[in-house]
This record gives sequence, structure tokens and C-alpha cells, in this order.
Amino acid sequence: MLDEAQKGNYALASINVTSSSTLNAALAAFAETKTDGIIQFSTGGSEFASGPIKSMSTGAIALAEYTHRVAADLPCYVALTTDHCVPDKVDKFVRPLIAESQRRVDAGLVPLFNGHMFDGSELSMVENMKTSVELLKLMGPMGIVLEVEAGLVGGEEDGIDNSSADHSKLYTTPDDMVMVYEHLHALGKFTLAATFGNVHGVYKPGNVKLDPEILKNGNDAIRAKYNAIADLVFHGGSGSELSDIHATLEYGVVKMNVDTDCQYHYSRPVVDHVMKNYDGLLRIDGEMGDKKVYDPRSYMKKAEAGMKARVIQAATELKSLGVSLYGK
Ligand SMILES: [Zn+2]
Repeated sequence: MLDEAQKGNYALASINVTSSSTLNAALAAFAETKTDGIIQFSTGGSEFASGPIKSMSTGAIALAEYTHRVAADLPCYVALTTDHCVPDKVDKFVRPLIAESQRRVDAGLVPLFNGHMFDGSELSMVENMKTSVELLKLMGPMGIVLEVEAGLVGGEEDGIDNSSADHSKLYTTPDDMVMVYEHLHALGKFTLAATFGNVHGVYKPGNVKLDPEILKNGNDAIRAKYNAIADLVFHGGSGSELSDIHATLEYGVVKMNVDTDCQYHYSRPVVDHVMKNYDGLLRIDGEMGDKKVYDPRSYMKKAEAGMKARVIQAATELKSLGVSLYGK
């Protein structure tokens, strides 16, 4: 999927989900439009999904198993990956997930996940690559893709707050990109979240200055040395200008993460529902309310439809709408 996206200058929408409901919203978007896409779980989203046990690895495994079941008969491919795993969570998140995939592969099954992200951007590049190499050595033989990060994504997401980071760190250098390629390309498939001023979250127009040329310069440097380029990931896709998104597709981006906008478009219809059905949602003045409007399914269906539309918008902007390798 990533190779075809690179060849075709499009990118796969990668959607953060935290529950069966948000997962189903993303799956509905991919299935209805026969679009290949990616579903991803963050550490916090996975912990949320694990319920009372508050275990991020168990939550991720549960959501992944659920996805394997409900997505089995869809007319498209859905890849599963995990989002930002910072160094101090590797042992309780990514490593147990790799072990679970290994257990399955050893039993003759497919891996549980298709990818994992290690976000070592808080480390020096040398330390970042040390752990990245270790992880890709475990994942590569199973065909699991490692996503790494060089440079910081600004803003705040899922408890990772880089909103006051040193500004120069928000732009990956060509040397960093060459270094990542050098360390990883022989070990397995990897993708790189190179940063070009992108931020997590959404901001009013004009407040985010993206410089997609950074990606071009980095991949030009890799090409000059290795006659190849890195597959890039665009973090903080929510709220980005279409012209910037399209520029990144020309410079090697094959995956764009969309989280914040999906959160908004899931919640927005719930506001409507509550405003319009206020009387039915409450048991007041001796009345019993209206079961039809306080059944959680009544508003979750609307929420899922709202998020589904935003996922379809993402695939459209990434030029992957209706693109699927399924059956090919
Ligand atoms: Zn991110």
C-alpha cells in the first residue's frame, strides 16, 4: 500500500481511533468508498480502550483484534498501526505488541499489527536510531513497518506537549533524514515522520507555517547518496491547507495522520442531538424522557456519520479516495 502510494503520488489517510465506535466510523468511510486506509491507536487511546484495567498494550490488542473481525469482509484493505510511542513507553506498549504479533506469526497466522511508531524525537539522533534499529530488527522479518520521527511535531496530542518547543527543532534537517535512511533501510520497511513546521491540533488560519520544501530537500539528499527516497508521514494533518497537503504528496508523503478533526466531527453531531432533543434526554417534571433519544446508539450513529464524512474528506485531499489494491 505504501509503495503504491509513493509511486502514485497519493497518501493513505491514517485515522486515530479510541473505541469501537470511532473505529467503525473510520471503517465505514473506507468501506463505502472502497478506499484503502490506515487505522491507528495512540498510547492514551489504547489505555482508554482497555477500560478498567488501564493497560495500553491490552487496549491496543483488543482494538486490533476487533478490527481484524469487523474489517475481514470489507471491499478494501485496512492496515493497523500504533501512533507516537515515546521512549519510556516502549517496554509497556510497542514491545508487548511486537511480541503478540510474533506469537501469531510463530503459530502460522498473520501479525496482529502492520506497523508501529517509535517516537524518539526527544532523544539525540544517535539514541533515537539505536532504539529504532533494535525495534526494526524485531519487526522487519514479520513485514511490520516501523515509523520513526526526526524533529518535533509541534502542538499537543495525547499528552505529548511540544507547544513550547525550540522552533528550530520543528524542522527536520536533510542530514537527519539521510541518517535515518542509512540506519534503517536494510533492516525492513520504515516510514519517517519528518517535521516541516507541522503541529498537532488545529489552529486558526495563518497560525501554522508549513514548509513542505523541507521534505523535498531531505529526500533530495537521500536520493543523491542512495538513489532512493524515504516514505514520509505527515503528522498534524488536521486543519492543513490543501495546497500544502498536495505539495507534500509530491515530496514523498504516503501517510497522513488525522486525529483532531475526526474528534471534532464525531462530537459535533452530538451537540445537535442534545440541543434538539433536550426534553427527551431528561427525566423532568415527573416525565420519563424518550428512550429513543437517550439510547446511546441514537447519537453515536450521528457521531459516526460525522466522523465518517471527515475521513472521506481526508482521503479526497490525499488523492486516495476510491483507491484500493483489494482484489488486484
Ligand atoms: Zn503525530
